[in-house]
Amino acid sequence: MIIACAHCHRKNRIDEQRLGEAPNCGACKQPLLSNLPIPVNSSAFSAHASADLPLILDFWAPWCGPCLQFAPTFEKAAVAAGPKAQFLKINTEEEQALAARFGIRSIPTLMVLRQGAEVTRVAGALPPGEFMKWVYQQLG
Ligand SMILES: [Zn+2]
Repeated sequence: MIIACAHCHRKNRIDEQRLGEAPNCGACKQPLLSNLPIPVNSSAFSAHASADLPLILDFWAPWCGPCLQFAPTFEKAAVAAGPKAQFLKINTEEEQALAARFGIRSIPTLMVLRQGAEVTRVAGALPPGEFMKWVYQQLG
């Protein structure tokens, strides 16, 4: 499968069986996967969106109180999901083109993407338990 590096965003081809072995990136030699949410700009986003892991997106902004309150929940879910998905954070202040492309009208907006295509979204923060449930429903 193809995975975009959590650090340099270069695409790596890797045997799915090896995902659990904390593989390193062939380009930057850092761990390919991160257990923490990855902040992305539009080019990094494109790399992840054209790779094979499902993406969980958090569209947020630094001035948005509910976004900041939700951040630790998103982080915990990323740690819990491990290598099953990549959790990406999109700062809508800095990445307005991405926000426009996905028609983001309110933040936070949480979204699941598979192979670059939107599967589902939620507008507004969810309580931790509900967010975990939502993530696991999406990941199967
Ligand atoms: Zn890398």
